[in-house]
Amino acid sequence: SDHDLVYPIHPGLMDWSGHYPAFFSGKAAADKMVTDTEESDATAVVFRPPPDLACLNTDLNSLASTDPRVEFADIGCGYGGLSIALAKMFPDRLVLGMEIRVKVTEYVRRKIEALRLKEPGSYGNVSVMRMNAMKFLPNFFYKGQLTKMFFLFPDPHFKRRKHKARIITSTLLGEYAYALAVGGLLYTNTDVRDLHEWMVKHLDAHPLFERISDEEMNADPVLPLIMHSTEESIKVARNAGDKFPAVYRRLPDPADA
Ligand code: SAM
Repeated sequence: SDHDLVYPIHPGLMDWSGHYPAFFSGKAAADKMVTDTEESDATAVVFRPPPDLACLNTDLNSLASTDPRVEFADIGCGYGGLSIALAKMFPDRLVLGMEIRVKVTEYVRRKIEALRLKEPGSYGNVSVMRMNAMKFLPNFFYKGQLTKMFFLFPDPHFKRRKHKARIITSTLLGEYAYALAVGGLLYTNTDVRDLHEWMVKHLDAHPLFERISDEEMNADPVLPLIMHSTEESIKVARNAGDKFPAVYRRLPDPADA
């Protein structure tokens, strides 16, 4: 259930200082957060407006180019191997792992905490958040904020009637395109051929995504990470399974093209 998930009603109200203290100076956020107490009641948040409603008019352009912001989202990060590897490879980019399971999120949080203590000055750019990435992305990210999104070894939901629960669907791709900057990249990988075909079919059909060539994909320094650094990718390799990566670029909105 998502009932106890906490999320801001607008990205301008999100306080990231607890996640990335080295990048954001602290400001109290608790009073700005609302809790999704009643999932079916979409108006629940309206009754508790935050004090500074002016934030609701902000967009990505209202941030200074030097303002820190999350750029890489590892959706369904599991045990966090990719997020941590990305943080190491891109020390000046903020990486956020998003995970729906409470205990797994807590495990990743502690792992990051331990890494920060062990290597002071490192890993301040990675954090993890418990959230349902299929529902609340626009609450956390401005339009075009992310430059990379990762969907690695997502749950396959094998049964046909469960396909609508898959994390890549036509509807959700619209939300991912919203959060992703034009020119940004969406990465997928899986060991399940049928799921790979499903993801490629939906991405190919979407007007805001274009698959990059194998040549370009193979030259991307991030490719080895999506092949070998997630816990699931390591498990697949141990069982000598196949992996089917695919990378898509966010195209400009037709109106702006
Ligand atoms: N990406 C990781 C890897 O490659 O090792 C984990 C893969 S695991 C098979 C899929 C993960 O996605 C699980 O940890 C699951 O809890 C998480 N997940 C599923 N649905 C989610 C959602 N709607 N929002 C956030 N995480 C989700």
